[in-house]
Amino acid sequence: MRVLLIGPPGSGKGTQAARIKDKVGIPHISSGDMLREAVAKDTPLGQKAHDYMSQGRLVPDDLVIEIILVRISQPDASTGFLLDGFPRTPPQAAALKKALTPHGFNIDHVIKIEVPDSVIIGRTTGRRIDPVTNKIYHSEFNPPPPEIAARVIQREDDEEVTLRKRLAKYHKDTQQVTDYYEQRGLLHIVNGVGKLEEVQQRIFSVIGLS
Ligand code: AMP
Repeated sequence: MRVLLIGPPGSGKGTQAARIKDKVGIPHISSGDMLREAVAKDTPLGQKAHDYMSQGRLVPDDLVIEIILVRISQPDASTGFLLDGFPRTPPQAAALKKALTPHGFNIDHVIKIEVPDSVIIGRTTGRRIDPVTNKIYHSEFNPPPPEIAARVIQREDDEEVTLRKRLAKYHKDTQQVTDYYEQRGLLHIVNGVGKLEEVQQRIFSVIGLS
């Protein structure tokens, strides 16, 4: 199964991605995580991507397309994958289609988790990340287990002003990609307001899982 997951920062996307991954047994591939790792390791890609990321701009298509296409051609992704954060632009979407079609593969589902900005701002101020595993918790809604609680951190860009900018940018950036998939009949809008289990259930039913 080849699934794309779209959702604003703080929409629960990372948590839902982990659940889909566990249920279907496909890798969860996050372009943001891959880029952050490249920056942390100071690889040539990381050096090129760093300035764009720190300014909150999109990394150029050719760089992101290359790392994602290499990643999805690896053996663990041969039966499917869950892409998170990619594609972000129509050229990225077109490159993905072009890479899959010769192998007879398609994107099966595009899921867009929708949550009003006001709800996200309330949620995100409590978001904490485990720097060891990159797992995302919430101090109120999804607290880390006691042995992890001491080491979780708040991501730098979760400050409210930055968040508002990120949300505005998210809406602007995703419009074209969601239009692209809507025109192809692949887009499912899922209401992301509610308990994690409720949202999970909505997503699972859209992609035919119980
Ligand atoms: P994310 O964790 O998905 O919010 O991504 C963090 C940052 O990585 C973004 O603000 C961009 O600078 C960069 N990035 C991640 N995915 C993409 C993509 N598909 N295209 C361009 N830039 C990306």
